[in-house]
Amino acid sequence: MLTVEIDDARLRANAEAVRARCGVDVIAVVKADAYGLGAARVAHAVRDAVAGFYVLHPREAAGLFDLTGLPTLAAVPLDEDADDLRRHHIRPAVWTRAGLDRWRACAPALSVDTGMQRFACPPDELDTLLATHEFTEAFTHAVRPAQAHALRTTLVDRVPYLHAAGTALLDDPTCRLNAVRPGLALYDGAVRVTTRVHEAHATRGPAGYTGFAADRHGVILAGYRQGLRPGPCAVNGRPQRIVEVGMQTSYVTLAPDDRAGDRVVLLGENAKLADVAAAWRASPQNVLVGLTQHAAPS
Ligand SMILES: *Cc1c(COP(=O)(O)O)cnc(C)c1O
Repeated sequence: MLTVEIDDARLRANAEAVRARCGVDVIAVVKADAYGLGAARVAHAVRDAVAGFYVLHPREAAGLFDLTGLPTLAAVPLDEDADDLRRHHIRPAVWTRAGLDRWRACAPALSVDTGMQRFACPPDELDTLLATHEFTEAFTHAVRPAQAHALRTTLVDRVPYLHAAGTALLDDPTCRLNAVRPGLALYDGAVRVTTRVHEAHATRGPAGYTGFAADRHGVILAGYRQGLRPGPCAVNGRPQRIVEVGMQTSYVTLAPDDRAGDRVVLLGENAKLADVAAAWRASPQNVLVGLTQHAAPS
């Protein structure tokens, strides 16, 4: 019983803001169906502000070129057909000699290991790959500035187009290289998840499983099943709290004039992604995919 609303104008504004702030190409990360927002929808909304897209599996990029005219980098190609990838302007990442041999005709990008130790070429094996193919693009999955710097130091003057920075490194100019590769920064603020107060009560003494205290409380029809956890929410523009979560229902605090039928914002104004994530002790990415996968698009 969750409703998700996606603000296309905000998606586009977020992408434009990242581009303006960083001054380099933006590669929009639309893996995992754009963190639950819908890859095609996001790609269409941001297409004028970005240089291309990034996904994990090539199949996640199906249709994106036809929709936007922009290419996609796919980090983990599996058993796809090389002609199919070329036709859809999907560039596979490679990090081994076998991978290079398999995908050489698809303008592969070189994936460099700077610490993640997965799907990437260790620095001491790079020379072998560079000697056998003229790469036009290389990237690393960086979570610390030193990793972006390592990519630059190793490959500057050897590969013309380098990128490393996701959302966490956008503010560091030394990490921006030729492009940045944000996911979360595009989505934050563009998603609203709501439900309705199903019942409203004046609270009489300790309530619920946990015996929580409140003046008034509401019950909503969403719980563990929908990925909810205790944390901030908002009702009628006022900050409230989800005080207790059960299997399919939860309790929220209410103001005196809040009524059954009123909208409860679980993510949006007065329930910001960073605050919800802090309350859940989860990453913002985790909150986004958690809430969007159980919601019916409106
Ligand atoms: C998911 C991912 C990103 C984007 O991460 P955010 O923190 O959401 O911006 C960037 N690069 C790679 C390799 C990723 O897997």
